[in-house]
Amino acid sequence: MVDVLVIGGGNAALCAALMAREAGASALLLEAAPQAWRGGNSMHVRNLRCMHDAPQDVLIEAYPEEEYWQDLLKVTGGKTDEALARLVIRASATCRPWMRKHGVHFQPPLSGALHVARTNAFFMGGGKALVNAYYRSAQRLGVQVRYESPVERIELDGDRFVAAWVGNERIAARSCVLAAGGFESNRSWLREAWGQNANGEWPADNFLIRGTRFNTGVLLKQMMALGADTIGDPTQAHMVAIDARAPQYDGGICTRLDCVSLGVVLNRNAERFYDEGEDFWPKRYAIWGRLVAQQPGQIGYSIVDAKAVGRFMPPVFDGVQADSLPELASKLGLAPERFARTLADFNAACRIGHFNHTQLDDCHTEGLAPAKTHWALPIDTPPFYGYALRPGVTFTYLGLKVGASTAVQFGGRPSANLFVAGEMMAGNVLGQGYTAGVGMSIGTAFGRIAGTQAAAATGHRGRTEESAHVAA
Ligand SMILES: Cc1cc2nc3c(=O)[nH]c(=O)nc-3n(C[C@H](O)[C@H](O)[C@H](O)COP(=O)(O)OP(=O)(O)OC[C@H]3O[C@@H](n4cnc5c(N)ncnc54)[C@H](O)[C@@H]3O)c2cc1C
Repeated sequence: MVDVLVIGGGNAALCAALMAREAGASALLLEAAPQAWRGGNSMHVRNLRCMHDAPQDVLIEAYPEEEYWQDLLKVTGGKTDEALARLVIRASATCRPWMRKHGVHFQPPLSGALHVARTNAFFMGGGKALVNAYYRSAQRLGVQVRYESPVERIELDGDRFVAAWVGNERIAARSCVLAAGGFESNRSWLREAWGQNANGEWPADNFLIRGTRFNTGVLLKQMMALGADTIGDPTQAHMVAIDARAPQYDGGICTRLDCVSLGVVLNRNAERFYDEGEDFWPKRYAIWGRLVAQQPGQIGYSIVDAKAVGRFMPPVFDGVQADSLPELASKLGLAPERFARTLADFNAACRIGHFNHTQLDDCHTEGLAPAKTHWALPIDTPPFYGYALRPGVTFTYLGLKVGASTAVQFGGRPSANLFVAGEMMAGNVLGQGYTAGVGMSIGTAFGRIAGTQAAAATGHRGRTEESAHVAA
């Protein structure tokens, strides 16, 4: 019988499997996807948010613990467990040598990735390269990997893990780490969570899924049915406004549109509905999916003019281009008079100061509701561009409640041999909101702890940084 069974094949699962193996335990990883699609949402990532007190290789200046914590506190509106959040933050300061050891390389951000050179370390080759490096390392260390192995059922004896079921096959293990992602690709669960709106629409029917189709939440649902303690709200998710032409699944990073803060966003009725310049884009991009989800028809339109070009990461698909605003309204199918009035009101309300997209500048609107509080410049320079936006779900936040050991809890009692990491428990730190790069900080910190704990539960206590940390 294998010591540690790891369920899932993304960052958290791989971190757990590698740590368990390094601690001396045998490890088997079950990935639902075929090999070509292995790696879950982790294959789409670009960076890791890192605490650091002084410049480090690809990271400039400093990003101290307190600032990271305040950023997290702000975006979550206090819906976070401070002890676990600080654990993640501190771990982000020390995990990169270990990642490098397993073949992950870092690079500074490309131009156009705004405001993150200080806070985020980018993976060379992106998430795909990271995942491939971890799989190679896992293979080298003797972790067994099985693809196309979706676990449908967990067998418990009281609070103890006994076995996992893949179809009719029963796979017993001495301990287990659940790292099977959120439930963002479970369309019926999303529909149930979001329900019907006042217009009689089912908003979730218009959601696109940015990542893997394999994160269906089967195990999360089953653990809930088995009485595991949960945390979070099923409607809370990392949701980005993405190009409405993106595919249903796996559009990844290239379908994101980063021009929102440089222009205005209108709904189907050609009305603005939120402050596009509230804060730096990496601190705000993750609220725009939800904002669009709350609009009629779950669609929005980002409108910019020629002045914005070159100031945001160029999207993969060209926007709708027009030489005049009426032409743009007509090409986007928006009511021309309302569109003209909204743009005229916005342009007239702009108080132009010193435009600086790298600072919270003093270009703002006056007497306009909703206001645009920074980077407000009149949209008056052709050509004009419009991009239709849809809510793009990155990952859901409902998860299993844990303490620092990552043990799954039943009525507050931690299981002795069942642990959880990554998106399946990210809701402990992220009750709502998001700040770029923290998903990988959470998955890396808790994946490593879960692997260490699962190995320890089988008597393998190789002295690692994580075991020392948890024991302290
Ligand atoms: C487009 C995109 C870009 C992102 N960019 C960033 C970024 O730059 N920085 C950042 O910090 N975060 C980013 N994120 C979020 C990040 O992907 C997640 O926080 C992180 O990858 C979660 O890791 P995980 O291992 O928990 O889940 P995943 O990587 O999603 O892995 C879940 C795994 O479980 C498998 N699985 C699911 N169900 C089963 C089952 N029943 N049996 C067996 N296996 C199963 C899946 O196939 C998958 O391999 C991004 C997400 C997306 C979609």
